[in-house]
Amino acid sequence: MSSSFKFICYHFFIIILHVFAATQILSSSTHNSSFNNFLDSAKNPEVYDWMINIRRKIHENPELGYEEFETSELIRTELDKLSIPYKYPVAITGVIGFIGTGLSPFVALRADMDALSMQEMVEWEHRSKVPGKMHACGHDAHVTMLLGAAKILKQHEKEIQGTIVLVFQPAEEGGGGAKKILDAGALENVTAIFGLHIVPDLPIGEVSSRSGPILAGSGFFEAKISGKGGHAAIPQQSIDPILAASGAIISLQHLVSREADPLDSQVVTIAKIQGGSAFNVIPDHVTIGGTFRAFSKESFNQLRQRIEEVIIGQAAVHRCNATVDFLHGVKPFYPPTVNNADLHEHFVNVAVNMLGIDKVDSVMTPYMGSEDFSFYQEVIPGYFFMLGVKNASHKRFESLLHSPYLEINEDGLPYGAALHASLAASYLLKHQRDTVPGVERKYHDEL
Ligand SMILES: [Zn+2]
Ligand SMILES: [Zn+2]
Repeated sequence: MSSSFKFICYHFFIIILHVFAATQILSSSTHNSSFNNFLDSAKNPEVYDWMINIRRKIHENPELGYEEFETSELIRTELDKLSIPYKYPVAITGVIGFIGTGLSPFVALRADMDALSMQEMVEWEHRSKVPGKMHACGHDAHVTMLLGAAKILKQHEKEIQGTIVLVFQPAEEGGGGAKKILDAGALENVTAIFGLHIVPDLPIGEVSSRSGPILAGSGFFEAKISGKGGHAAIPQQSIDPILAASGAIISLQHLVSREADPLDSQVVTIAKIQGGSAFNVIPDHVTIGGTFRAFSKESFNQLRQRIEEVIIGQAAVHRCNATVDFLHGVKPFYPPTVNNADLHEHFVNVAVNMLGIDKVDSVMTPYMGSEDFSFYQEVIPGYFFMLGVKNASHKRFESLLHSPYLEINEDGLPYGAALHASLAASYLLKHQRDTVPGVERKYHDEL
């Protein structure tokens, strides 16, 4: 009884929040009515057909992290056509565009450009033309939607009260491109940043997100466990690294089940094991590797420390030596993705106004995946949300991110473009007086 009462109260509270949010945006949006029809603009064939064409071109030519040279060139060509100035190169292949007055406040919109090392299995006219590479995380759609937003915003440039910074970043998939963009100093003076990710199981025209932690922090590790190889029939003359690796793998599973607070979500997965090449030979060494995830820095650091201790300790139990590499140079740790509370309110206002209350899930369940958008959020208030691109006709295989069968519904593209545009334009409208003294001319100097 009491739990169902709580459930009703909770939902009543959410409805009240939504109604309040909708009222707020309706009153604030009267300041500038031309920002209200961004979705109509994005659905207009002039923008829609142009976006579809761009998305298919990028999909046909997927490029991996820090190799997005042709994708970057396509972006710059379109920005040139739109007369949008940009900086290039930033972080190897990155492009940073600017729309608006060139003065503060500055708000950023981010899209990632990289594809994955996998073979596309979808048979369609615009499938990947590069063997072993595929846009299976929808970053082709992300680039397209940001260009769509740029096209719409450029048409309203005179009404924009500040500067919108378009961030086309490389290498989200493990390469930490976001960190490189920040290290290049490309986002100084930016006071808010928005990013989105497509979700293939959320219907078109729907979005979801939440305030606070939404995606986990993630790290990777690889351990080499060394023993002494020999004849499999004479084990007493060898030191068996396979048994040591087995002990380590089992013990690593106890970190989450026995050491972590059950209410603090964490993951340790061994996803890789390599060792031995014959049925009758004990190998010299075994390599194991995997990933670990957590929502707080404390839990994350604790896991990192214990993974190293457990592998080295278990190797020692079996008379082996072990080294653990956290792969910092190749796969930087990604912090948890944590949404700013004020920007959450702004997002809900904009999304409810554009899509309707029933299309906005503002209390999304957090997810153990990770995103390098979190690097921006460590230094700039940031907000990340999920956008529906469900393909209703997709029956044969479940459409998932990182699946070779991923098919997205391109009808979702106008929604992403319009939300990007509206989030940025209305943010500037709201913060037009929050100028930072002395930095107003910086963007012109940088260009
Ligand atoms: Zn991905
Ligand atoms: Zn992705």
